[in-house]
Amino acid sequence: MQQTIRTRAGPALVEEHAPGSSLGAIERQAKDCRRCDLYKYATQLVFGEGRRDARLVLVGEQPGDKEDIAGRPFVGPAGVVLTDCLHEADIERSDCYLTNAVKHFKYEQRGKRRLHSRPNAGEIQRCAWWLGAELDQLDPHVVVALGATAARTLLGPSVKVTRDRGHPIATDSRFTILVTIHPSYLLRIRDRQAATAERSRFIDDLKTAVKLAKGSE
Ligand code: SF4
Repeated sequence: MQQTIRTRAGPALVEEHAPGSSLGAIERQAKDCRRCDLYKYATQLVFGEGRRDARLVLVGEQPGDKEDIAGRPFVGPAGVVLTDCLHEADIERSDCYLTNAVKHFKYEQRGKRRLHSRPNAGEIQRCAWWLGAELDQLDPHVVVALGATAARTLLGPSVKVTRDRGHPIATDSRFTILVTIHPSYLLRIRDRQAATAERSRFIDDLKTAVKLAKGSE
């Protein structure tokens, strides 16, 4: 049975963004964002990209090292996995819109390496404003939450990826949400069999999202 829940990202936009703002205008505003401290350490803002008329929007956690340098979402190793899995789920990356819950890279410097550091609840909450602004300008049928940060941003703290993944969740916004893992998780599984099984499950989740987005489920 489908749940219906209130999403958190959309309403923030309605209060604070004038109707009619374009996605480009919102991105320009976001480049000057000082809502939290993450802008101080990142190379640049990484806003979403993709088709403005995408039926499927995918939301990750935050940019990684490569995304921070390139200024584009999902261009690192997890992005390669995601692109391949989308293809196997019968949709091309170029047909989607990809973004992150948090728009600046958070990391710990270890020598020359910059190690991913999970954004905290305050940073996630402050940056949800921008995700809400993006979603308000797009018209997706389905929003896929890739991992716990995206899921909590969209659905609140009670959502659990392990429990809620793969099931369409109806919302009072225009779109349905589907929760699944973040593709970076697949890169961390050491056991080959387990990695293959988890990859198949991820593709199945994406297939469910694609079918919903195409209106066939
Ligand atoms: S992470 Fe988000 S809220 Fe924080 S400064 Fe960057 S754009 Fe603003």
